[in-house]
Amino acid sequence: MKVFKFGGASVKSAEAVQNMSAIVKKHAEDGDKLLVVVSAMGKTTNALERIINAAQKQDISTLNKELFALRVYHEDIVKELFPDPTSRIYELLEQIFLKLERRVRAPRKNYNKQYDQVVSVGEILSSRIVAEYLKTQLACLWIDARAYIRTDESWREGKVDWASTERNIENKISALAETHVLLTQGFIGGTIGKRTTTLGREGSDYTAAIFAYCTKAESVTIWKDVPGILNADPKRLSETAMYEQLSYVDAAEMTYYGASVIHPKTIKPLANKEIPLHVRSFIKPNDVGTVIGQVRTSPDMPAVIFKPDQCLLHLLRKNLSAISDSSMALIFNLLERHDVVVNLVQSSAVTLSICANADMSKIRTIKPLLEDDFDLSIQEKLELVTIKNYKQESESFVKSFTEVLLEQRSGQYWHLIVPSEKR
Ligand code: ASP
Ligand code: MG
Repeated sequence: MKVFKFGGASVKSAEAVQNMSAIVKKHAEDGDKLLVVVSAMGKTTNALERIINAAQKQDISTLNKELFALRVYHEDIVKELFPDPTSRIYELLEQIFLKLERRVRAPRKNYNKQYDQVVSVGEILSSRIVAEYLKTQLACLWIDARAYIRTDESWREGKVDWASTERNIENKISALAETHVLLTQGFIGGTIGKRTTTLGREGSDYTAAIFAYCTKAESVTIWKDVPGILNADPKRLSETAMYEQLSYVDAAEMTYYGASVIHPKTIKPLANKEIPLHVRSFIKPNDVGTVIGQVRTSPDMPAVIFKPDQCLLHLLRKNLSAISDSSMALIFNLLERHDVVVNLVQSSAVTLSICANADMSKIRTIKPLLEDDFDLSIQEKLELVTIKNYKQESESFVKSFTEVLLEQRSGQYWHLIVPSEKR
């Protein structure tokens, strides 16, 4: 079996759904057994976040406006895809929206739990629409991912219970895929009490990896609006090149430093079972794209990766005595306990600079605790730029930054912390 994943952009309109369906159909006709994972259509997840926030604030006029826009957006797509007004999809859509309305109009205390129940609707809508459309072309079965991917109750960041999930998926999914193209949702899971959870924003890639892991799939393909994995974001640099192959380790490191092509959690389950991950273009579906897998050689082409939303903590020991290993351990313990994600550290005898995700409410909580022993200054609105495999010519790229707050070279990596570019 092969697992395909189509993100929001690949199902954002009727035309996009027809395009992705044609890709699925071609592969099914070539004999591939397929499980297809889809995200919410276009920017639906953001719209649902606005809906739950308006509901929470009891901002009824925004809530009404957003609900209406969401419905019209999906209805327009459906009308184009299903000219037959008696198609089952109209009834399905009606039910989903009714349930959503009822839910957001009843105030709930647990925001995060409510978030998952509301925001998951984007994937339910898109998977229903795509499945019904595929059924007009081939044998397709809609699969509810919540019945297979078991998570705990960590709302908005559901932790996968791998043993139960594997048991749920194992033989069942592969058997169903023998006779049908299976169509399911990314991003969502279910608890033992049958509540919906989400796996973290942009989590649909991870869903594809979970299903692939549990079915020992032959491969995973993520269909995107870029030709494959590029060595830099084309929105940031004019000249980019594509990797034909990357090792799991290289891919994991690149996503860690901010390459946003694939969700960071995706790589590990695939690497564990040596399942290759293809990144291909849904615009040019005949191009091969990038494959991540068991490759021995690392490409030596320089890559530039931007990780936005960073801050820098500068600590200076008040009594100017050296920062010992044990005080270092205390600091990192504190950061860890407050879930502050650290990306880079530089130390001298009496100072310590820490680059972390700019989660400012968390940083403000730990600030007074650090200020007992340290003079602390915090710089915000920064980004971490990483050049992997830097070369002679990378020097001129580095010089193009007018201000570099911190610089570090280690191994093949050259890291810079710079003020965020105003975009
Ligand atoms: N729809 C979800 C999001 O936008 C998950 C995904 O697209 O991967 O975050
Ligand atoms: Mg997405």
